[in-house]
Amino acid sequence: MPVFPGHVLTVLDTLRAAGHRAYAVGGCVRDTLLGRGPHDWDVATDAGDGEIVALFEHTVPTGARYGTVTVLLPGGAVEVTTFRRDGEYLDGRKPETVEFVDDIREDLARRDLTVNAMAMDGRGDIIDPFGGREDIKRKLLRTVGDPERRFSEDALRMLRLLRFHAQLGFECDGAALNAVRRLAPLAARLSAERVREELCKTLLSPRPASAVLMIEYGLLAGFMSENGKNIPAARLSEAPGELRMAVFALMVRNTGAVPSAEGLLRALRCTARECRLAGAAERAAEGLAKMPVRLALAEFDAEAVLTAAAAGGFYGEARAELEAGSFTKVAGLAVTGEDLKKLGFEGRKIREILRFLSLSVTSGETKNEKPALLERIKAHYRDNKQ
Ligand code: ATP
Ligand code: MG
Repeated sequence: MPVFPGHVLTVLDTLRAAGHRAYAVGGCVRDTLLGRGPHDWDVATDAGDGEIVALFEHTVPTGARYGTVTVLLPGGAVEVTTFRRDGEYLDGRKPETVEFVDDIREDLARRDLTVNAMAMDGRGDIIDPFGGREDIKRKLLRTVGDPERRFSEDALRMLRLLRFHAQLGFECDGAALNAVRRLAPLAARLSAERVREELCKTLLSPRPASAVLMIEYGLLAGFMSENGKNIPAARLSEAPGELRMAVFALMVRNTGAVPSAEGLLRALRCTARECRLAGAAERAAEGLAKMPVRLALAEFDAEAVLTAAAAGGFYGEARAELEAGSFTKVAGLAVTGEDLKKLGFEGRKIREILRFLSLSVTSGETKNEKPALLERIKAHYRDNKQ
């Protein structure tokens, strides 16, 4: 059963030919069984990192302390890790030590969920000590071993549980959810980067509403005061993926649980682009509270308006207005700053007038033709004196 891409088979075969045991493990086995193309490949072996490095021409020692080597082949990269068991967890985040072992089953036992704790060899034979295949059939997410113990060891597993619920559409086992309810406060110790990654994968999944479940279970309490209540989660699905982080932040802000959407994304160490979008969307939302969508599209950046509209539950309307294109931005006006300079205006005043004209044209009050626009300026600044 040739389920592996060539470069993964090369890694498995090379290790075996050198007398080692080697298996594809974790997410790639799960995704293969689900018929979803895995996006990365992890191999576990009884070979030590020195032996792995000696067997392949191009390698990068990615996590020496944990015995991980990235093998680079023409077909792609494969993470190869020595079978290991985790030592004691003292801080709820990372094991104090790792211990190399020679049984794949022990390596599988340290993994978070049964569906993520299977190994597959080069012939397609599967090692599945915790019933992962059965859980895939039942569409069920269960922890390997007692959920309270596993979540206390590493609180990130609670966020991963809800992330896989969102990505795979599987139900979460009741005992696991009870454990999340009890142990959610432990998530406050996690680094923002790890939390952001799970939140981001959840928001980009087919069920982004699970991000709101993360809030409701208290898993994001480290980032928001009263743990955002009554967020209209269904709105997340309407927005395209690249806007969802900002939409989410804006909806949290609307509950009053954070002072600003941009601040929330900064605390979560989101990308500069996401933070900026959240900030721009907050300003667009203020605009939308006072003016129709069409005028907001004339005045603010389109992505910011769409984001604010999605958070407000009218993404479809904003999208349609954007596509209809019946708004005129400053850059599309039939007069320019130069024309206004000739009339004796300067700097800020010029920007203010152009903005006024773009709204005036968009609302249908003035035609977008130079004489009409110049006439409009004269009338306005005569009426308003200054
Ligand atoms: P993805 O499709 O997002 O890559 P994945 O399941 O492969 O999902 P990774 O973060 O790539 O997730 O981790 C690879 C494997 O390592 C997992 O399938 C799981 O077996 C194990 N693993 C990852 N994080 C943890 C954790 N916090 N606790 C226990 N096991 C973990
Ligand atoms: Mg993976």
